[in-house]
Amino acid sequence: MGTRSGRDARGPVAALLTAALLSLACAGGGLAEPEGERPAPARSPGSPEPTTTRADGTTSVAEFKQDVADAQTIAERYWAAQFKESGQRFQPIRRITPYQRAGEVSCGGEPLPRNNAVYCSRGDFIAYDVAWSVAAFRQVGDAFVFYLLGHEYAHGIQVRLGINYSFTIQQELQADCMAGAYLGDSVRAKALTLADGDLDEFREGLAAVGDDPDQPWFAEGSHGTAQQRTDSFFRGYERSLEACDLG
Ligand SMILES: [Zn+2]
Repeated sequence: MGTRSGRDARGPVAALLTAALLSLACAGGGLAEPEGERPAPARSPGSPEPTTTRADGTTSVAEFKQDVADAQTIAERYWAAQFKESGQRFQPIRRITPYQRAGEVSCGGEPLPRNNAVYCSRGDFIAYDVAWSVAAFRQVGDAFVFYLLGHEYAHGIQVRLGINYSFTIQQELQADCMAGAYLGDSVRAKALTLADGDLDEFREGLAAVGDDPDQPWFAEGSHGTAQQRTDSFFRGYERSLEACDLG
């Protein structure tokens, strides 16, 4: 994630962004219907040369897009390797789609709202509001993009593995753990280099996406408190997938 010197651009996450981030992921009923259409055979993952982390330093949309592409590449290679290790064929998530307007993209017939990012199991794609994601990227930092993509990608992996918990929060905290594992393992494998401050950016991003402390854990749509999400992410980050109860 390079040597971005824009850390002074971080600071407290604005209330607006925090509110938006609460709805992070999983709108559109993608995971509510995991029996949705299975991914069709797709292209194979990219070539296996390590991804060289760019020295960034701007907060431009171009840099954001490059970070999304890098995060996708790293996630595809990571999960392809995990599946291969267990003798399974891996199909990458079919596409990653930015959108700008409410309803521009639908998941299973449900129009996706602004200010969100989702994995849609019907159609096997990730979609994100580009203006909202760029705002988060500018406020929290580039590490947020790698976390966000990793979390949504993990939902696609859960579908591939047939994991379907009774409570949203279990599905969400596991996705956070898996996002942590893909990042931690990629750093250990030197496929990804973290800059100073990136770990703080993960913490700040996770703090921003935590549920209200008084939200019931069993509520539909609960993702976990900031503490729970941070704990899950770093459990995966430090101990890899062993920590994520993939079964
Ligand atoms: Zn999620």
